[in-house]
Amino acid sequence: MTITNETQRVALLEAGQRLAHVLAALEEKVAPGVTTEELDDFAEKLIRDGRDTPAFLGYTPEGASRPYPATLCVSINDEIVHGIPNEHPKTLKEGDIVGLDLGLVHEGIVVDSALTVPVGKVDRKAQQLMRATRDALAAGIAAARPGGHVGDIGAAIQEVIEKAGFSVVKPLGGHGVGDRVHEEPFVPNFGRQGEGEKLVVGMVLALEPISSEGRAAVMIAPDGYTYRTKDGSRSAHFEHTILLEESGPVIVTKP
Ligand code: MG
Ligand code: MG
Repeated sequence: MTITNETQRVALLEAGQRLAHVLAALEEKVAPGVTTEELDDFAEKLIRDGRDTPAFLGYTPEGASRPYPATLCVSINDEIVHGIPNEHPKTLKEGDIVGLDLGLVHEGIVVDSALTVPVGKVDRKAQQLMRATRDALAAGIAAARPGGHVGDIGAAIQEVIEKAGFSVVKPLGGHGVGDRVHEEPFVPNFGRQGEGEKLVVGMVLALEPISSEGRAAVMIAPDGYTYRTKDGSRSAHFEHTILLEESGPVIVTKP
């Protein structure tokens, strides 16, 4: 969506703060022995307690054959994104890295954010993968300026991930958000400065670098949703919804 008035802007920022609050509570709950279904139930409860609506539950993304059956996406280790937490629940183990991706609708506005968190103590490479992907998100946000281009964001994200020795998972990326879960423009996590769609004031974007420690080829599980790395290497994912203002990007889902 493009924000055109102060009422929308206030509602968007409030939506983002509500989502940040739920994600922070989920992050705190992550521990060995917790199941993915418990995380999903908790996310749904917190969203509904705030009188908001889960954005992913019942949403059918382009190309999917059925609506998404949960509130939260939980993607563990070699699962890249869109792991379903409640159909065949898994138990988190010490040393796992777990991606939590969540969207909610507040006053008709959709916001989307994700992070990857360690379960207990994780190895050094997992820490590096998560740090590089979080840093890539920060670089992508910093590169998102009105008057610039979508390619500025992708180039910044790609540089950080590849300099750290990891791969960009190319089929997946960021997107416009606000009126719906996924809107134009698609925002690849790679590209060249000055290329792609122009960025304008008021634009609301979900930026979401997705990386892999190995090669970045993907496959989709039989559930039709869970993306995994083909080589079994681990993946990390961080996402914020941002608003492009005259003065630069505002992180709507900043905790
Ligand atoms: Mg997301
Ligand atoms: Mg997204």
